[in-house]
Amino acid sequence: MASNKKKLFLRALFDYDPDDDPAVPCKDAAIGFKRGDVLQVVSMEDDTWWQACHLRDGNARGGLIPSRQKSSRAREAARRRRWSTGVHGPTRPPTYIEVIPYHRDPKERHRLVVLVGPDGVGVNELKRRLLLSDPDHYGVTVPHTTREKRRQEKEGVDYHFVSVPMFEEDILNHRFIEYGRYNGHYYGTSLDSVNRVMAEGKVCLLDVHPGKIKHVYTCEYKPYVVFVKPPGIEELRLTRRRAKFICGEEDKGSVRVFSEEDFEDMISLADDMESQCGHLFEKVIVNGDIAMAFRELKADLERVEQTEVQWLPAEWMC
Ligand code: 5GP
Repeated sequence: MASNKKKLFLRALFDYDPDDDPAVPCKDAAIGFKRGDVLQVVSMEDDTWWQACHLRDGNARGGLIPSRQKSSRAREAARRRRWSTGVHGPTRPPTYIEVIPYHRDPKERHRLVVLVGPDGVGVNELKRRLLLSDPDHYGVTVPHTTREKRRQEKEGVDYHFVSVPMFEEDILNHRFIEYGRYNGHYYGTSLDSVNRVMAEGKVCLLDVHPGKIKHVYTCEYKPYVVFVKPPGIEELRLTRRRAKFICGEEDKGSVRVFSEEDFEDMISLADDMESQCGHLFEKVIVNGDIAMAFRELKADLERVEQTEVQWLPAEWMC
Protein backbone atom coordinates (compact mmCIF):
# COMPACT_ATOMS: atom_id res chain seq x y z
CA MET A 1 0.00 0.00 0.00
CA ALA A 2 1.16 3.53 -0.75
CA SER A 3 0.64 4.87 2.77
CA ASN A 4 3.82 6.96 2.90
CA LYS A 5 3.63 8.03 -0.73
CA LYS A 6 1.89 11.08 -2.14
CA LYS A 7 -1.74 10.17 -2.88
CA LEU A 8 -2.50 9.99 -6.57
CA PHE A 9 -5.93 11.06 -7.77
CA LEU A 10 -7.09 10.76 -11.37
CA ARG A 11 -10.15 12.13 -13.10
CA ALA A 12 -11.52 9.68 -15.67
CA LEU A 13 -12.11 11.12 -19.12
CA PHE A 14 -14.26 8.23 -20.31
CA ASP A 15 -17.03 5.94 -19.08
CA TYR A 16 -15.99 2.45 -18.09
CA ASP A 17 -18.25 -0.51 -17.40
CA PRO A 18 -16.50 -3.84 -16.65
CA ASP A 19 -19.61 -5.68 -17.90
CA ASP A 20 -18.92 -4.31 -21.39
CA ASP A 21 -15.22 -5.17 -21.33
CA PRO A 22 -14.39 -8.66 -22.60
CA ALA A 23 -10.72 -8.16 -21.59
CA VAL A 24 -11.38 -7.67 -17.88
CA PRO A 25 -9.67 -10.50 -15.89
CA CYS A 26 -12.47 -10.77 -13.33
CA LYS A 27 -15.62 -8.66 -13.62
CA ASP A 28 -16.24 -8.63 -9.86
CA ALA A 29 -12.73 -7.35 -9.18
CA ALA A 30 -13.07 -4.35 -11.48
CA ILE A 31 -14.90 -1.09 -10.78
CA GLY A 32 -16.95 0.90 -13.23
CA PHE A 33 -16.88 4.69 -13.46
CA LYS A 34 -18.26 7.59 -15.42
CA ARG A 35 -16.40 10.31 -17.22
CA GLY A 36 -15.58 13.00 -14.66
CA ASP A 37 -15.39 10.62 -11.67
CA VAL A 38 -12.34 10.88 -9.43
CA LEU A 39 -10.39 7.74 -8.60
CA GLN A 40 -7.63 7.35 -6.04
CA VAL A 41 -4.96 5.07 -7.46
CA VAL A 42 -3.57 2.63 -4.92
CA SER A 43 -1.24 0.61 -7.13
CA MET A 44 0.14 1.04 -10.66
CA GLU A 45 2.42 -1.97 -10.48
CA ASP A 46 0.66 -3.82 -13.29
CA ASP A 47 0.95 -2.30 -16.78
CA THR A 48 -2.59 -3.15 -17.75
CA TRP A 49 -4.70 -3.09 -14.60
CA TRP A 50 -4.31 -0.61 -11.78
CA GLN A 51 -5.87 -0.81 -8.34
CA ALA A 52 -7.97 2.16 -7.43
CA CYS A 53 -10.73 3.44 -5.16
CA HIS A 54 -13.75 5.25 -6.40
CA LEU A 55 -14.38 8.42 -4.39
CA ARG A 56 -18.00 8.88 -5.45
CA ASP A 57 -20.26 10.12 -2.62
CA GLY A 58 -17.40 9.88 -0.18
CA ASN A 59 -17.58 6.09 -0.24
CA ALA A 60 -14.31 4.57 -1.31
CA ARG A 61 -14.91 1.36 -3.25
CA GLY A 62 -11.80 -0.41 -4.45
CA GLY A 63 -11.04 -2.57 -7.45
CA LEU A 64 -9.27 -2.82 -10.78
CA ILE A 65 -9.36 -0.12 -13.44
CA PRO A 66 -7.78 -0.23 -16.91
CA SER A 67 -4.36 1.44 -16.87
CA ARG A 68 -3.72 4.58 -18.89
CA GLN A 69 -1.86 2.54 -21.48
CA LYS A 70 -4.61 -0.03 -21.84
CA SER A 71 -7.50 2.43 -21.99
CA SER A 72 -5.63 4.71 -24.34
CA ARG A 73 -5.11 1.82 -26.77
CA ALA A 74 -8.75 0.75 -26.49
CA ARG A 75 -10.08 4.28 -26.99
CA GLU A 76 -7.75 4.87 -29.92
CA ALA A 77 -8.95 1.68 -31.60
CA ALA A 78 -12.58 2.69 -31.04
CA ARG A 79 -11.92 6.11 -32.51
CA ARG A 80 -10.09 4.65 -35.49
CA ARG A 81 -13.14 2.51 -36.21
CA ARG A 82 -15.33 5.62 -36.06
CA TRP A 83 -12.99 7.60 -38.28
CA SER A 84 -12.16 4.76 -40.63
CA THR A 85 -13.47 6.66 -43.66
CA GLY A 86 -11.63 9.88 -42.82
CA VAL A 87 -8.15 10.70 -44.04
CA HIS A 88 -7.12 12.34 -40.79
CA GLY A 89 -8.30 11.10 -37.43
CA PRO A 90 -7.91 12.72 -34.05
CA THR A 91 -4.78 12.21 -32.01
CA ARG A 92 -4.67 9.54 -29.28
CA PRO A 93 -7.35 10.56 -26.78
CA PRO A 94 -6.30 11.23 -23.18
CA THR A 95 -7.78 8.82 -20.64
CA TYR A 96 -7.14 10.19 -17.16
CA ILE A 97 -5.75 13.45 -15.84
CA GLU A 98 -4.10 13.84 -12.48
CA VAL A 99 -6.10 16.03 -10.14
CA ILE A 100 -5.58 17.53 -6.69
CA PRO A 101 -8.20 18.42 -4.07
CA TYR A 102 -9.21 22.06 -3.73
CA HIS A 103 -11.20 23.53 -0.84
CA ARG A 104 -12.47 26.93 -1.88
CA ASP A 105 -12.30 29.60 0.76
CA PRO A 106 -15.55 31.66 0.53
CA LYS A 107 -13.37 34.80 0.51
CA GLU A 108 -11.62 33.59 -2.64
CA ARG A 109 -12.72 34.53 -6.16
CA HIS A 110 -15.18 32.21 -7.87
CA ARG A 111 -13.85 29.90 -10.51
CA LEU A 112 -14.10 31.25 -14.05
CA VAL A 113 -16.86 29.48 -15.97
CA VAL A 114 -15.94 28.83 -19.59
CA LEU A 115 -18.66 27.71 -21.98
CA VAL A 116 -17.55 26.15 -25.24
CA GLY A 117 -19.32 24.56 -28.16
CA PRO A 118 -19.70 24.79 -31.91
CA ASP A 119 -21.41 27.79 -33.47
CA GLY A 120 -25.19 27.52 -33.29
CA VAL A 121 -25.29 24.97 -30.48
CA GLY A 122 -26.67 27.48 -27.97
CA VAL A 123 -23.69 28.70 -25.93
CA ASN A 124 -24.75 32.36 -26.22
CA GLU A 125 -28.32 31.60 -25.29
CA LEU A 126 -27.23 29.62 -22.21
CA LYS A 127 -24.96 32.46 -21.17
CA ARG A 128 -27.80 34.96 -21.68
CA ARG A 129 -30.23 32.88 -19.61
CA LEU A 130 -27.75 32.44 -16.77
CA LEU A 131 -27.13 36.17 -16.67
CA LEU A 132 -30.86 36.95 -16.67
CA SER A 133 -31.54 34.35 -13.98
CA ASP A 134 -29.21 36.00 -11.45
CA PRO A 135 -27.49 39.20 -12.64
CA ASP A 136 -25.99 39.82 -9.19
CA HIS A 137 -24.25 36.48 -9.22
CA TYR A 138 -23.18 36.05 -12.84
CA GLY A 139 -21.27 38.53 -14.96
CA VAL A 140 -19.92 38.71 -18.49
CA THR A 141 -16.89 40.38 -19.97
CA VAL A 142 -17.03 43.58 -22.01
CA PRO A 143 -15.10 43.08 -25.26
CA HIS A 144 -12.75 45.56 -26.92
CA THR A 145 -13.29 46.78 -30.44
CA THR A 146 -11.76 49.25 -32.84
CA ARG A 147 -15.00 50.01 -34.65
CA GLU A 148 -16.92 53.28 -34.16
CA LYS A 149 -19.31 53.50 -31.23
CA ARG A 150 -22.95 53.39 -32.30
CA ARG A 151 -25.38 56.00 -30.97
CA GLN A 152 -27.15 53.79 -28.43
CA GLU A 153 -23.95 52.10 -27.22
CA LYS A 154 -22.10 52.94 -24.03
CA GLU A 155 -18.35 52.82 -23.50
CA GLY A 156 -17.49 50.10 -20.99
CA VAL A 157 -20.96 48.54 -21.23
CA ASP A 158 -21.31 47.32 -24.80
CA TYR A 159 -17.62 47.51 -25.67
CA HIS A 160 -14.40 49.21 -24.75
CA PHE A 161 -13.87 51.33 -27.86
CA VAL A 162 -10.17 51.68 -28.56
CA SER A 163 -7.92 52.82 -31.41
CA VAL A 164 -6.17 50.39 -33.74
CA PRO A 165 -2.68 51.22 -32.35
CA MET A 166 -3.95 50.62 -28.79
CA PHE A 167 -5.52 47.31 -29.77
CA GLU A 168 -2.37 46.22 -31.57
CA GLU A 169 -0.23 47.16 -28.60
CA ASP A 170 -2.48 45.04 -26.37
CA ILE A 171 -2.08 42.13 -28.80
CA LEU A 172 1.70 42.44 -28.59
CA ASN A 173 1.49 42.53 -24.80
CA HIS A 174 -0.63 39.35 -24.73
CA ARG A 175 -3.53 41.13 -23.06
CA PHE A 176 -6.18 39.26 -25.05
CA ILE A 177 -7.51 35.80 -24.38
CA GLU A 178 -8.77 35.85 -27.92
CA TYR A 179 -9.22 38.38 -30.68
CA GLY A 180 -10.27 38.46 -34.30
CA ARG A 181 -11.26 40.71 -37.16
CA TYR A 182 -14.77 41.27 -38.39
CA ASN A 183 -15.75 43.72 -41.15
CA GLY A 184 -12.28 45.22 -41.06
CA HIS A 185 -12.33 45.93 -37.29
CA TYR A 186 -10.61 44.23 -34.39
CA TYR A 187 -12.66 42.60 -31.63
CA GLY A 188 -11.27 40.81 -28.60
CA THR A 189 -11.71 39.74 -25.00
CA SER A 190 -9.02 40.87 -22.60
CA LEU A 191 -7.76 39.19 -19.46
CA ASP A 192 -8.44 42.49 -17.67
CA SER A 193 -12.13 42.29 -18.54
CA VAL A 194 -12.27 38.82 -16.94
CA ASN A 195 -10.41 40.11 -13.88
CA ARG A 196 -12.85 43.00 -13.52
CA VAL A 197 -15.90 40.69 -13.37
CA MET A 198 -14.17 38.32 -10.96
CA ALA A 199 -13.06 41.20 -8.71
CA GLU A 200 -16.74 42.20 -8.33
CA GLY A 201 -17.26 38.83 -6.64
CA LYS A 202 -19.28 37.49 -9.57
CA VAL A 203 -19.03 34.25 -11.47
CA CYS A 204 -17.54 35.34 -14.79
CA LEU A 205 -19.08 33.59 -17.81
CA LEU A 206 -16.77 33.40 -20.77
CA ASP A 207 -17.40 31.79 -24.12
CA VAL A 208 -14.36 31.10 -26.24
CA HIS A 209 -13.14 28.58 -28.75
CA PRO A 210 -11.65 25.65 -26.79
CA GLY A 211 -8.31 26.34 -28.46
CA LYS A 212 -8.17 29.62 -26.50
CA ILE A 213 -8.79 28.10 -23.08
CA LYS A 214 -5.04 27.71 -22.59
CA HIS A 215 -4.77 31.45 -21.84
CA VAL A 216 -6.88 31.03 -18.71
CA TYR A 217 -6.05 27.41 -17.91
CA THR A 218 -4.19 28.37 -14.75
CA CYS A 219 -4.60 28.25 -11.01
CA GLU A 220 -5.34 31.99 -11.10
CA TYR A 221 -8.61 31.46 -13.00
CA LYS A 222 -9.35 27.82 -12.13
CA PRO A 223 -11.66 27.54 -15.14
CA TYR A 224 -14.64 25.24 -14.90
CA VAL A 225 -15.07 24.31 -18.55
CA VAL A 226 -18.51 23.28 -19.77
CA PHE A 227 -18.81 21.76 -23.22
CA VAL A 228 -22.18 22.33 -24.90
CA LYS A 229 -22.69 19.55 -27.34
CA PRO A 230 -25.32 19.13 -30.06
CA PRO A 231 -27.63 16.11 -29.86
CA GLY A 232 -27.66 13.54 -32.67
CA ILE A 233 -28.63 14.55 -36.19
CA GLU A 234 -32.18 13.15 -35.81
CA GLU A 235 -32.86 15.31 -32.80
CA LEU A 236 -31.31 18.34 -34.48
CA ARG A 237 -33.67 17.82 -37.43
CA LEU A 238 -36.65 17.49 -35.09
CA THR A 239 -35.75 20.67 -33.22
CA ARG A 240 -35.14 22.62 -36.42
CA ARG A 241 -38.53 24.32 -36.02
CA ARG A 242 -37.24 25.63 -32.73
CA ALA A 243 -34.02 26.83 -34.35
CA LYS A 244 -34.58 30.40 -33.20
CA PHE A 245 -34.33 29.26 -29.57
CA ILE A 246 -31.33 27.08 -30.17
CA CYS A 247 -29.39 29.81 -31.88
CA GLY A 248 -30.39 32.35 -29.25
CA GLU A 249 -32.17 34.86 -31.39
CA GLU A 250 -35.64 34.55 -29.92
CA ASP A 251 -35.72 38.16 -28.75
CA LYS A 252 -34.84 39.50 -32.16
CA GLY A 253 -37.76 37.61 -33.68
CA SER A 254 -35.53 36.29 -36.40
CA VAL A 255 -35.34 32.61 -37.16
CA ARG A 256 -32.07 31.10 -38.21
CA VAL A 257 -32.87 28.22 -40.46
CA PHE A 258 -30.25 25.52 -40.20
CA SER A 259 -29.50 23.48 -43.29
CA GLU A 260 -28.63 19.78 -43.21
CA GLU A 261 -25.03 20.87 -43.87
CA ASP A 262 -25.13 23.17 -40.82
CA PHE A 263 -26.17 20.22 -38.65
CA GLU A 264 -23.40 18.04 -40.04
CA ASP A 265 -20.85 20.82 -39.55
CA MET A 266 -22.02 21.37 -35.98
CA ILE A 267 -21.71 17.69 -35.12
CA SER A 268 -18.36 17.32 -36.83
CA LEU A 269 -16.97 20.45 -35.16
CA ALA A 270 -18.22 19.20 -31.78
CA ASP A 271 -16.44 15.87 -32.42
CA ASP A 272 -13.21 17.71 -33.25
CA MET A 273 -13.49 19.87 -30.14
CA GLU A 274 -14.11 16.85 -27.95
CA SER A 275 -11.28 14.79 -29.36
CA GLN A 276 -8.78 17.63 -29.17
CA CYS A 277 -9.86 19.40 -25.98
CA GLY A 278 -12.11 16.86 -24.19
CA HIS A 279 -9.59 16.53 -21.35
CA LEU A 280 -10.31 20.17 -20.45
CA PHE A 281 -14.07 19.71 -20.12
CA GLU A 282 -15.37 19.15 -16.60
CA LYS A 283 -18.99 19.03 -17.66
CA VAL A 284 -20.66 18.06 -20.91
CA ILE A 285 -24.22 19.21 -21.59
CA VAL A 286 -26.14 17.96 -24.59
CA ASN A 287 -28.35 20.77 -25.83
CA GLY A 288 -31.32 19.08 -27.44
CA ASP A 289 -33.81 21.24 -25.59
CA ILE A 290 -32.57 24.68 -24.50
CA ALA A 291 -34.81 24.88 -21.40
CA MET A 292 -33.57 21.50 -20.16
CA ALA A 293 -29.96 22.32 -21.00
CA PHE A 294 -30.26 25.59 -19.09
CA ARG A 295 -31.73 23.88 -16.01
CA GLU A 296 -28.97 21.28 -16.09
CA LEU A 297 -26.26 23.92 -16.44
CA LYS A 298 -27.62 26.13 -13.65
CA ALA A 299 -28.01 23.19 -11.27
CA ASP A 300 -24.52 21.97 -12.11
CA LEU A 301 -22.91 25.36 -11.50
CA GLU A 302 -24.74 25.64 -8.16
CA ARG A 303 -23.62 22.14 -7.24
CA VAL A 304 -20.00 22.98 -8.02
CA GLU A 305 -20.14 26.11 -5.87
CA GLN A 306 -21.56 24.16 -2.96
CA THR A 307 -19.21 21.22 -3.30
CA GLU A 308 -16.77 21.16 -0.42
CA VAL A 309 -13.93 19.48 -2.28
CA GLN A 310 -13.36 20.15 -5.96
CA TRP A 311 -10.72 18.47 -8.07
CA LEU A 312 -8.38 20.64 -10.09
CA PRO A 313 -5.78 19.55 -12.65
CA ALA A 314 -2.49 18.88 -10.88
CA GLU A 315 -0.72 20.79 -13.65
CA TRP A 316 -2.07 24.04 -12.19
CA MET A 317 0.08 23.42 -9.08
CA CYS A 318 -2.08 25.58 -6.81
P1 5GP B 1 -20.99 44.27 -33.72
O1 5GP B 1 -19.97 45.16 -34.39
O2 5GP B 1 -22.25 44.20 -34.54
O3 5GP B 1 -21.25 44.67 -32.29
O4 5GP B 1 -20.36 42.79 -33.65
C1 5GP B 1 -20.07 42.16 -34.84
C2 5GP B 1 -19.34 40.86 -34.60
O5 5GP B 1 -18.11 41.08 -33.92
C3 5GP B 1 -20.02 39.85 -33.72
O6 5GP B 1 -21.06 39.18 -34.37
C4 5GP B 1 -18.87 38.93 -33.42
O7 5GP B 1 -18.67 38.03 -34.50
C5 5GP B 1 -17.69 39.87 -33.37
N1 5GP B 1 -17.31 40.08 -31.96
C6 5GP B 1 -17.94 40.75 -30.98
N2 5GP B 1 -17.28 40.65 -29.81
C7 5GP B 1 -16.19 39.89 -30.05
C8 5GP B 1 -15.09 39.42 -29.24
O8 5GP B 1 -14.97 39.64 -28.04
N3 5GP B 1 -14.17 38.64 -29.89
C9 5GP B 1 -14.24 38.33 -31.20
N4 5GP B 1 -13.29 37.55 -31.74
N5 5GP B 1 -15.26 38.74 -31.97
C10 5GP B 1 -16.21 39.52 -31.42
